[in-house]
Amino acid sequence: MNWLVLALILPLAGVQASEIVNDVTRLNPIRVDQVVRPDSVGEIRKLVSEARGPVSIGGGRYSMGGQTASEGTLHLDMRSMNRVLELDVEGKRIRVQAGITWRDIQEAIDPHDLSVRIMQTYSNFTVGGSLSVNVHGRYIGEGPLVRSIESIRVVLADGSLVDASPTKNSEIFFGAIGGYGGLGVIVEATLSLTKNEKIERTRQRMPAKDYSHYFRSRIRDDRNVVFQNADLYPPFFKTVNSVEWRRTEKPLTSEERLIPRDRKYLFQPRAIRTLNHLPGGKILRSALIDPLITAKSPVVWRNHEASYDVAELEPPSREKTTFVLQEYFVPVGKLNEFIPRMRKVFKKHRARVFNVSIRHALPDPGTLLAWAPEEVFALVVYYEQGTDERAKARVADWTRELISEALAVNGRYYLPYQIHATPEQFHSAYPRAQEFFLLKKKLDPTNKFRNKLWDRYFTPILSKSNQDIKTRLPASK
Ligand SMILES: Cc1cc2nc3c(=O)[nH]c(=O)nc-3n(C[C@H](O)[C@H](O)[C@H](O)COP(=O)(O)OP(=O)(O)OC[C@H]3O[C@@H](n4cnc5c(N)ncnc54)[C@H](O)[C@@H]3O)c2cc1C
Repeated sequence: MNWLVLALILPLAGVQASEIVNDVTRLNPIRVDQVVRPDSVGEIRKLVSEARGPVSIGGGRYSMGGQTASEGTLHLDMRSMNRVLELDVEGKRIRVQAGITWRDIQEAIDPHDLSVRIMQTYSNFTVGGSLSVNVHGRYIGEGPLVRSIESIRVVLADGSLVDASPTKNSEIFFGAIGGYGGLGVIVEATLSLTKNEKIERTRQRMPAKDYSHYFRSRIRDDRNVVFQNADLYPPFFKTVNSVEWRRTEKPLTSEERLIPRDRKYLFQPRAIRTLNHLPGGKILRSALIDPLITAKSPVVWRNHEASYDVAELEPPSREKTTFVLQEYFVPVGKLNEFIPRMRKVFKKHRARVFNVSIRHALPDPGTLLAWAPEEVFALVVYYEQGTDERAKARVADWTRELISEALAVNGRYYLPYQIHATPEQFHSAYPRAQEFFLLKKKLDPTNKFRNKLWDRYFTPILSKSNQDIKTRLPASK
């Protein structure tokens, strides 16, 4: 068969030859061997069991450091696994294929007045990608996504299909959730849901040093607060704007159930970029623009507030500069110690930080790569960086410094973003990685499931025996 015929046939069969897999930042192009878009569990089992080389797994591709691919892999693009399998309205639970997005789920459950319990701020992400990162959102009284998961189904390296929950195959449940595709392909998940309710927005502005106390006394235990986050404003990082959404019986100010899929975002991305570049732009945003935008108290459906599209943030171009995220988790009692440390690093390196959003999470019930082993505040850093090699190196420098500052207050950093941490920093932040690696060696003895995250921290120690892994890895905190 000649190349022309192959080129015509393969895409029809859901297979594309050698292709670049990249992420939303456009900073991580990776040439994989082949991209396949399976649409059934049977097809995934066959592809994985018959794969002679390494396999990588991708969902929405919104992670930002090559976590979805590695050179020469067979890449499973999970986005055709997008069906709702079962909706139990009475029992408030849903079983879905892992390539479905939160947005697709919202459209299925909104007519039944149900809502996703835990997800990110935006709705474009897949369930499989979100589970593998163990994401979180702005929900009060919640935390990592694992808290809302009843069970998952996983295809392991030998093609076997395993059901896992906190009580059945719990090792796989707590390893695969937050496991960045290292143990197998999550093909299905059962999630618990909650009621869709009317919510009203209010805001409170205060000095950053008062926020921790404010949160503990006014937000943490208020069962009426559904969403809450606080913006910590650059360039001084001394003022906080807490944005709170509480249950209400007041009439809606917008009848929309969900934000329309085709909404055009022409103003926001340009405004973000312009304000970031304008002298005094950040001060203008903190003192004038944000207070004006959030001055009103809209009343909307919970699902509406959970249906944002990442297009809202997309800049007109990512060629010379790009917008990127990072995140740090600190024990709740350490927030006031961490903020000045973070401020110092940003100032020293003149980091082009646009926003730091502070969120809260209750503890993780036991995932091996937990970012919230205890109750934490999460600090999400949104910044702009150049795409040339010098700019990348500069960001790598300040990122490692910031990780050290987080570790110094017993905190952690988030793994779906650029992979700058040294192996020592990785193991200090994730002391149970040793257990995760031993489990990976048991379930995936040929290191079939790969991506840039595991190429960096797992593959170099692979040839060692299990005992060696334990003794060779940096000591746990
Ligand atoms: C604008 C923006 C906002 C964000 N906001 C938040 C936020 O509010 N909270 C938060 O926690 N995070 C946030 N993130 C990070 C984001 O949640 C994660 O990157 C998430 O993984 C994205 O889902 P995805 O479907 O794009 O996953 P991908 O990036 O495609 O994959 C992530 C990881 O999961 C693995 N994977 C994917 N599917 C499967 C599967 N079926 N089985 C096994 N492994 C799989 C991949 O191999 C990869 O390692 C944000 C990112 C962006 C770009």
